Amino acid sequence: MRHPNPPYHGTCLCGAVEVHVTAPPLLTTACHCRDCQKLTASAFSLTTLFPSDSVSCTGSLIRGGHRAAPRNHSFCAACLTFIYSRIEGAEHRINLRTSILDDAPLFPPFVELMTVDKMPWAEVPATRSFTHFPETSEELQALMEAFARG
Ligand SMILES: [Zn+2]
Ligand SMILES: [Zn+2]
Repeated sequence: MRHPNPPYHGTCLCGAVEVHVTAPPLLTTACHCRDCQKLTASAFSLTTLFPSDSVSCTGSLIRGGHRAAPRNHSFCAACLTFIYSRIEGAEHRINLRTSILDDAPLFPPFVELMTVDKMPWAEVPATRSFTHFPETSEELQALMEAFARG
């Protein structure tokens, strides 16, 4: 599925946090890891990767999750909706939670990650699948190129 053209807009549950994105997505993922299951209170998380400089956020955010490097998880300070993650060493990308986007249904996961932890009944329409995470930046780059080709 081709995603819509930018800009994109998203909000947390209460509306205190608004997100604006000016660039097209780099990749869409579903992650089945145990951390994501707990962080999202669901079977998997939905993430859309964007260039960091294309994403602006208004409203107050607080850090959640383990509150320790290398993953920094940001939530709305008022309603605690999960907004995005930033990963140490990958500051040029932001992992936005797809569910906060107004157009979330139009960003289906292209790749699923950490299927080693997948709940046996959890199905996503991803065409690429990893038992863990891509191991090299070349592997991730190849995924983003395949995603861009559509
Ligand atoms: Zn909120
Ligand atoms: Zn995960």
